[in-house]
Amino acid sequence: MPRAKPAPALAGMSIITQPYPQDIPEGAPSRQQLLDELNSQVRACQLCSVLARQRTQTVFGVGNPASRVVFFGEAPGADEDRQGEPFVGRAGQLLTKIIEACTWKRSDVYIMNVLKCRPPDNRNPEPDETTNCRPFFERQLEIIQPPYIVCVGSVPAQALLETTESVGKLRGRLHRYRGSKVLVTYHPSYLLRNPAAKKYVWEDMQLLLKEMGVPIPCRNS
Ligand code: URA
Repeated sequence: MPRAKPAPALAGMSIITQPYPQDIPEGAPSRQQLLDELNSQVRACQLCSVLARQRTQTVFGVGNPASRVVFFGEAPGADEDRQGEPFVGRAGQLLTKIIEACTWKRSDVYIMNVLKCRPPDNRNPEPDETTNCRPFFERQLEIIQPPYIVCVGSVPAQALLETTESVGKLRGRLHRYRGSKVLVTYHPSYLLRNPAAKKYVWEDMQLLLKEMGVPIPCRNS
C-alpha cells in the first residue's frame, strides 16, 4: 500500500488533534534524512541535565521509517544505553517475539521510546523529562506518519494520548493520535513479571492485525 511522503520540518510543537501534514512537495527530504537530522538534535540535547550527564549515548529509534506500525516504549534501560538501540535487553527480546508472532521481522517495523536517555536505575520518566522529549517523539511520529502505533505500557500510552488512564482501561480498543490508530497493551517488562498477561497482549495484537487486514497466524506459545 502506498504511503504518504514525509513532512518537511514544522515550527513548534504539534497538537494531537491536528492531522499529520499532507501534500509533501516533490524533492522533499526522505523520512530517513529527516530522522537523521532529528537524531542529531537529540544527540546534542542537554535539557534533562541529570540524564544527559549520566547517559552513555542517546537512544533514538530503529527500524523501517516507512513501516505501517511503530512500537512505542518508555525509555532506554542499561542495555539500550550501552548499545544505542531501543529494546535490545530482556524486555526487548520479548518485544521482538511479539513482533515475530505477528509475522513481521523486527526490521520491518519502527521501534522508539518516549525518552531518548536512560533514567537512573530505570525509574519511570519524570513529567518534566517527558515534556522535554515530547517535541522529539512527536516530530519522529510526524516524519514517519505511521497508520498504527502500539504503545507498550502506561508511560507511552499516557504521554501520547495525554491521559492518566491505566493500560487495563486503555487496552482492547483503538485510540487516535493525529492520523494514527493507537493500540495500547502491556509492556514486555510487565509480561516478564506477569507471564499470565501474555494472553491479553496476544488479544490486543490480534485486534491490530485484524484492523490492518493482516491474516492472524496460529499461535502455540
Ligand atoms: N523498555 C523500554 O520501554 N524501552 C526500551 O528501549 C527498553 C526497555
